Amino acid sequence: MTRTRLDRAGPIDWEQVLSRVVLVDDARRRATVSARRAQEFLRLAPDELDRLTAAGLPGANVGGELRYDFRDLYNVGLYAGFGTSQAEQALQVMMRFASRPVEQLLTPRRWTVQIRGECAACRDGGAPEGTWQVQQPDPFPGGGRLLSWQVRPGLARPAPSAGATSPAGHLAREPRPPDLLVEGVVETIGVRRQIRSSRILAEIERFSALNLRWHLLTEEQWPDIERFHRLGVTDCVMASLYLAERMTRLGIEAQTRCGWMTGIVNVSHGWLEVRDEDGAIKTVDLILPQLAGLLAPGSGAYRQLASGSLINRVIRADCPADQPLVTHRHGAGPVDVDLLTEVRPVLDRREQS
Ligand SMILES: [Zn+2]
Repeated sequence: MTRTRLDRAGPIDWEQVLSRVVLVDDARRRATVSARRAQEFLRLAPDELDRLTAAGLPGANVGGELRYDFRDLYNVGLYAGFGTSQAEQALQVMMRFASRPVEQLLTPRRWTVQIRGECAACRDGGAPEGTWQVQQPDPFPGGGRLLSWQVRPGLARPAPSAGATSPAGHLAREPRPPDLLVEGVVETIGVRRQIRSSRILAEIERFSALNLRWHLLTEEQWPDIERFHRLGVTDCVMASLYLAERMTRLGIEAQTRCGWMTGIVNVSHGWLEVRDEDGAIKTVDLILPQLAGLLAPGSGAYRQLASGSLINRVIRADCPADQPLVTHRHGAGPVDVDLLTEVRPVLDRREQS
């Protein structure tokens, strides 16, 4: 059974919900989501989506039908707070770890990483063959191991002679492999550490006092840090970029970093790494604890652990926070591709749950 907002009593005050959401600028709006898909995503009855649109959720008329920007739907779903939107439910699944005893976040765990990429231009063969660049897992020293990693680009292009030697129609009946297939196994280990430097701690305090709310933002929005701070929102990448600049200005060695969240589809994550006064590199991740506060009841112990420590639910990659984990190019610039990234637990160990 699919629950919708109709199961609840009383009209929804959409203007109040929208007052908590920073909508994508008109100039940057990508209206790609159909009304039907938007209803499913927010689990709303059709007339509720009409009311939400009337209250100010922008849609664009495409071929006689309203379409919405995915980021707007995501942030509306999260800040409507009904607990039923697909955005909230996916984030709740991702953050479930934060409600568990913190010892479970410090043990060794193994994960399979599978990334499938598809490029429309590569598929129809009209463009020169594209190239793929995939960032590799780079576990923190003492925080895990990369056990295997295989990147196979160009799978969808048959070898030159393949068509000629296959029986007629054979290739068409085969399920097509993706254009890019990455498969790996990574072990993660959490490590409990504390930040000692009073200057770093003061910067963390200062950032927390800004009381920014997490939003789903994208690459083109990240450079607008000041504007989004005025509007009261940030995301993990923007927060990392901001903190890196602040720390660097104070003479603290700091670098942003990104990686994959485990146990969920298509979620990359960014954070900051700083050199503490004891010479050790420590993680500064202020966004996962904030999401835990929003979505994971009983996550106080995790939120205390988070500052400085490594947890076994994040796979660190050899990549700054604002760079993509996978890039596809035809000649000069990167092109948009469909990516499906799945990080699943390896279930052959007793401690896995
Ligand atoms: Zn391509």
